[in-house]
Amino acid sequence: IEESYEDIQNKRKQLPAYKCGNEILNIVRENQVVVIVGETGSGKTTQLPQILSKEYGKKIGITQPRRVAALSVATRVAQEMNVELGTLVGYTIRFEDKTTKDTRIKYMTDGILLRETLKDSMLYEYDCIIMDEAHERTLNTDVLLGFFKNLLAKRRDIKLIITSATMNASKFVQFFPNAPNYIIPGRTFPVTNIYTRFPVSDYLESAIQQCVKIHMSTPLNEDILIFMTGQEDVEMACGMLMEKLIAVYSSKYQEDPDKLQNEICIFPFYSTLPQDSQKQVFKPLNSTNKRKVIVSTNIAETSLTIDGIKHVIDCGYSKLKVYNPRIGLDSLQITPISQANAQQRSGRAGRTGPGTCYRLYTESTFLFEMYKETIPEIQRTNLSNVLLMLKSLGVQDVLSFPFIDPPPKVTLMTSLYELWSIGTLDNMGNLTKLGTQMAKFPLNPNLCKMLINSIALDCTEELLIIVSMLSIPNIFYRPKNAEAEADKERARFYVAGSDHITLLNVYSQWRANRYSSQWCKKHYIIYRSMQRANDIIGQLRSIMDSIVKGNMRKSRRYNSNKTNTILGIHDNNTFSSWKNVRKCIVSGYSYKNIGKRVGLNKYISLQNGMPLQLHPTSSLFGLGDLPPYVVYHELLLTTKEYITVVTAADPI
Ligand code: ADP
Ligand code: MG
Repeated sequence: IEESYEDIQNKRKQLPAYKCGNEILNIVRENQVVVIVGETGSGKTTQLPQILSKEYGKKIGITQPRRVAALSVATRVAQEMNVELGTLVGYTIRFEDKTTKDTRIKYMTDGILLRETLKDSMLYEYDCIIMDEAHERTLNTDVLLGFFKNLLAKRRDIKLIITSATMNASKFVQFFPNAPNYIIPGRTFPVTNIYTRFPVSDYLESAIQQCVKIHMSTPLNEDILIFMTGQEDVEMACGMLMEKLIAVYSSKYQEDPDKLQNEICIFPFYSTLPQDSQKQVFKPLNSTNKRKVIVSTNIAETSLTIDGIKHVIDCGYSKLKVYNPRIGLDSLQITPISQANAQQRSGRAGRTGPGTCYRLYTESTFLFEMYKETIPEIQRTNLSNVLLMLKSLGVQDVLSFPFIDPPPKVTLMTSLYELWSIGTLDNMGNLTKLGTQMAKFPLNPNLCKMLINSIALDCTEELLIIVSMLSIPNIFYRPKNAEAEADKERARFYVAGSDHITLLNVYSQWRANRYSSQWCKKHYIIYRSMQRANDIIGQLRSIMDSIVKGNMRKSRRYNSNKTNTILGIHDNNTFSSWKNVRKCIVSGYSYKNIGKRVGLNKYISLQNGMPLQLHPTSSLFGLGDLPPYVVYHELLLTTKEYITVVTAADPI
């Protein structure tokens, strides 16, 4: 059943934020900065901009820490305002701009707003900025907060609204001393937390067991939300849950095998899920005799609200980007959540009535092992990108930038050193020409450098593709029931010796097949990811063009319409024919991303001697004759330290 316009309006009017509209307008009128706190689902993200647009005529910008939230919420607000998305209401996320000059409510990621400050450091386009979900304390949020600290005095007419889902807003109030803290009165119901008696050894298995238990013992109109850490364990949990239920049902209801389908609907929920599937999760089921089970990453923690949840199962972990100083790299790691996260997850069960949260950890873990709050990203990440951005924002003295939580001086110095070592800063600490060019790209320094070097090496077209393919989530689809088949298809694209060029190969074959979705399906490639790669290529190409225009000497070598250098189907894809492309790839990585072979088939980090394993999905995996040196794009930390997206770097 589709929601009618009337339904939508009625639902809207029930939201606590909607009801406080006038009060909020008053307090914003009287203060330049306001900190607004409200329960998840109270309508902060969807209602605040609509409320403010009554009084603020220019443009209202709302930043989100997650792309998926910007997109999903903008869609919802367009629906509420009964306009087409991309007109009055729009969104901008990296590589995707759905706004026009008439857009008045613009959702965007915090990274986008940060980039906009590069073009206009006064943000004249806006008269209101809402920094939504500031409690997430992403790196971009923190830089923006520092930026606003300086901007507010220069633009007395701009309003800054900071929202936070957790009660811990004191940090923001301290940072902006005169800012009032407005609390949206919300009604939440008590949630009973149930801990395990002993630590669980396998949270996936335990979550499934718990879910089946709840399902067999509670009314079907009580929905269940399970928190997992990432796309892989979300998908895995969905599959395992189905299997387990089939087993239980077939012994219990032998006479009625359809009963399962009539009683339960299982939905995965994560940020790279196609939009249509995401919408399904929000839709109420067409019967109260049916239970929704949503298995989600922490996007359901505060970013997106799913109504009607009665039971939450919390695995106690999430995936965090962690800077590992030992190896000097960022990596995504499964990490214990903080107490604040745990409370937030519990809270999802108490939106419409009293609920229960099953915590798959002991009470003493919660009390004595978990951090009170997640450590802000800025304190656990590689700062190079931020510093590059600060430098290009004209911040000379980055060491005294007003960070809300200043990173350790040592980390700042290390990052500055790194930027200098790849040639982006000169000896005085100023941006070099390379650094200035690099700051124009919404990419990390490695990828920027490859792209810029491709001009001189005459392989820009190839590198545009490779870099774009590296900027999207995994393109290879590996469904549960067809893993072997999918792996076989994947191997057909391998260009021995380089996973980067393998990606290029996938793209060129897709292009040769007229960008067909059928082709993708046949080869277990995710069509949507490929389309995104295409968008990204377009955007990066226009940035490339703008750089080359300012450089006549080099423009001779670069022609954005050139397509004939890409080999067609893989018959001729020998490694040696990619000499320049490979040189260019290798040139992008610093000493931190180099592996050195020791013995026949083992690698160690050139930086610190740490053992590195080739990931089984690498085209180099299992080769008899491994190159003495490799560069790699990513380090994956599981039980072992795997390197993925690898290219041979031996001297040519
Ligand atoms: P908050 O930002 O305070 O957490 P939101 O403004 O995101 O709250 O959500 C308010 C309400 O709007 C919630 O009940 C939520 O379920 C609903 N909502 C938000 N986005 C969507 C969507 N894309 N589809 C359906 N309902 C939505
Ligand atoms: Mg919100």
